[in-house]
Amino acid sequence: MKIIVAPNAGLCYGVKRALTLAKETRRKRGGRVVSLGDIIHNPQVITDLREKGIDSVADISEVRGGTVIIRSHGVSPDMTRALKRRKIDVVDATCPIVTRIQDLVARLARAKQEIIIVGDPNHPEIRGLIGHSRGFGHIIENEAQAAQLPVRKKRAVLAQSTQDMVLFEKVVGALLRRTGELCAFNTICRSTQTRQRATSELAAQVDVLFIVGGASSSNTRKLYEISKRILRRTYFIENAGQIKPAMLRGASTIGISGGASTPPEAIEDAVRTIEQAFEHNSTRKEIRVP
Ligand code: SF4
Repeated sequence: MKIIVAPNAGLCYGVKRALTLAKETRRKRGGRVVSLGDIIHNPQVITDLREKGIDSVADISEVRGGTVIIRSHGVSPDMTRALKRRKIDVVDATCPIVTRIQDLVARLARAKQEIIIVGDPNHPEIRGLIGHSRGFGHIIENEAQAAQLPVRKKRAVLAQSTQDMVLFEKVVGALLRRTGELCAFNTICRSTQTRQRATSELAAQVDVLFIVGGASSSNTRKLYEISKRILRRTYFIENAGQIKPAMLRGASTIGISGGASTPPEAIEDAVRTIEQAFEHNSTRKEIRVP
């Protein structure tokens, strides 16, 4: 049995940077330190941060003094203004790549251009981006919604930084049929593209593939969907405890990949669990063989 871990599986640059900034802030500043929303979509890491004195709040109304960390997804200008109005100390851990996408949206909005943002309307990055669009942005999730849009002479399209590349290409194709002059910006970050490519290549060469990550992590879910299109035996697991013997049955090559918010320990745990399961299985096989 062979285990192959996808290159670049696990924490991306932006999430690592946000975690480092949060921990540094905790070390250097007194008072309460909270993040606005979970800093990472991973329950184990959230528990660890809480134990280190970094809580998360869902809304700024819950902030009473101390310091607020803006996570890698960024926030809307309205939120930035609200934090300023309330004189809350802020540490901005927005991923610089997300900041560049926000600036692009703001620039297109200043030019009064219609902006189609391809992403999940409930995702914090998208809520932040739409806030930068000053009413010129529309969020769509798929090709079918793109095909419903009215015909326009001109519009721009861009994507959530963790969008599925194949889906984005389909949306751009649908918009080309409904737009005279379409400016398409590939805002899917390089780390996401590399991760998606590595996961699909891995799915094509293994018998079973585990995608490890938090259930609420949208980029991990996308990796799962990408792999599932290629390999039926793809499983989305939050932790190694969810790996069941039936999932491994008959497999000789097993792949493991993880999203941008998957800590390296979660990947290592999955590898160890599979190695242990196979030791156990091989023993049983030896006993059965006459
Ligand atoms: S997925 Fe890309 S854009 Fe998003 S936080 Fe990570 S590095 Fe930044």
